[in-house]
This record gives sequence, C-alpha cells and structure tokens, in this order.
Amino acid sequence: MALMATRLLVLEDEDGLRASLRLLLESDGYEVVEASDAESALAIVPGAGFDLMLVDLMLGGMDGFSFIRRARPMTEAPIVVISARDGVEDIVSALEAGADHYITKPFDVQEVRARLRAMLRRPVLSSDGPTNGQPPDLAVRGSDVFVLDQDDGPLVFDRGAAQLTRGPREIHLTMTEYRLLSVMAENAGRVLSRSSLLEHVWDEGFFGDERIVDVHVRRLRKKLERDPSAPRTVVTVRGLGYRLDTQ
Ligand code: CA
Repeated sequence: MALMATRLLVLEDEDGLRASLRLLLESDGYEVVEASDAESALAIVPGAGFDLMLVDLMLGGMDGFSFIRRARPMTEAPIVVISARDGVEDIVSALEAGADHYITKPFDVQEVRARLRAMLRRPVLSSDGPTNGQPPDLAVRGSDVFVLDQDDGPLVFDRGAAQLTRGPREIHLTMTEYRLLSVMAENAGRVLSRSSLLEHVWDEGFFGDERIVDVHVRRLRKKLERDPSAPRTVVTVRGLGYRLDTQ
C-alpha cells in the first residue's frame, strides 16, 4: 500500500538553490513542487494540499511577504521562510504576515531537515511531553476537550478532533496555532514562559527569538478572544510569559 507522501512547496527564484533544495528534500522522501515566482505558487496553493511551504522572501514580482499574507488564509500548513534577510524587522514582518518559522541563508542542511521535521510532526497526546509532572488527568485522552470560555456561545477546544468552536461556529486554526493552544490548554492555569513555549511548540534548537511566540499569541487572541486587546483566555503575565485561563 502506497503511503501518502508529505508534499512540500519550494518557492525560490534562484534556480540552483531551488534545484538543490528539491534534491535534498526528495532524498528525504518528501514530494516536492517547485515554484520560481509567487504568482504561480499562489495559483496552486488552494488545490495542492501542501503539508508545508518553504518560502524565499526576495522574489521577482510579488515578494515573499505578500505571498505569505495571501496564502495564509488558504491553508493551515506551516510556512517556513528561508531568506538571506536576517534582520529582526524582516523576521518579525514575515511572522506577522503569517509565517510559522524562519531559517536564514546560508543555511545548514541539517538545520533545514530538523526544522522541517519539527514543523511537520503532529502534536502528541501523551504524558511524556510538556505535561510531565502534571496531574495525570490533564494528560489522558479523556480530557482532550477544554472549555475555554463559558460565555454565551461557549468556546470549546477539542484537541483530539483538532477543533475550536465558539457556539456553533468553527474557528479555523493553523497547525502552529493548534500546537500552541494544545500546550497552553494542557497547562491551563500555569504560567508558561516564552522560552518554554518556544521549545514545546517550535523546537529546542531554534535560534530563540521569543518574538515568534508573541506574534503567534497575538494571532491566537484575534481568533479566540472577544476583545483581543483585553484578553481573558490567553493572558499575559508580565515579565513571566503567558497563561491560559478558563472561565
Ligand atoms: Ca531570492
């Protein structure tokens, strides 16, 4: 029986680099679709079922930032930027646009491999992750449904089904938002530092710009808070990190 290959988009305008990324990724067993410009990539995103997209920022025509902004609503797949632009503003802009992760050029092949593995892994429902030391009832499957807010039209996160609903309305989450909410929900009531969220949601070896966490928390709040400027569910604990409160 053939297994469904993991499908990646490589959006990169440098022919040599795109070809070598393709070779590397195909040798790792991924199915690779190449695009050299953002316009043609954008045209195939809705139907291609990509599991992850690798995106360069400096492209001819539409740039990578615009591509990410426009592709983000079309898919929950992680978007990983590979760019020579390594300034903090560029990284934050790419994350704000909707990217999930960032790799700077020149990149190390092992680093690319590790990042992709981390971003493609499914969240694990077990007690051997961030739930260590937690009361066992937080780590078992039976408690996979979290009522985050009881207000009219309760906000319910069903982690097993990967579903967030407000009353009858389903709220769409990206893969990274889902992972972030999972970690926060299973640790509800506890303060989680930015570095611990970074470690559990992204991966341990990430270069460690904790703003990646802040950007994703902002994104999550826009989706689940009634008033994102006065959050009640994902609250900031000044100087320490974030805490998920259930009402
Ligand atoms: Ca380029």
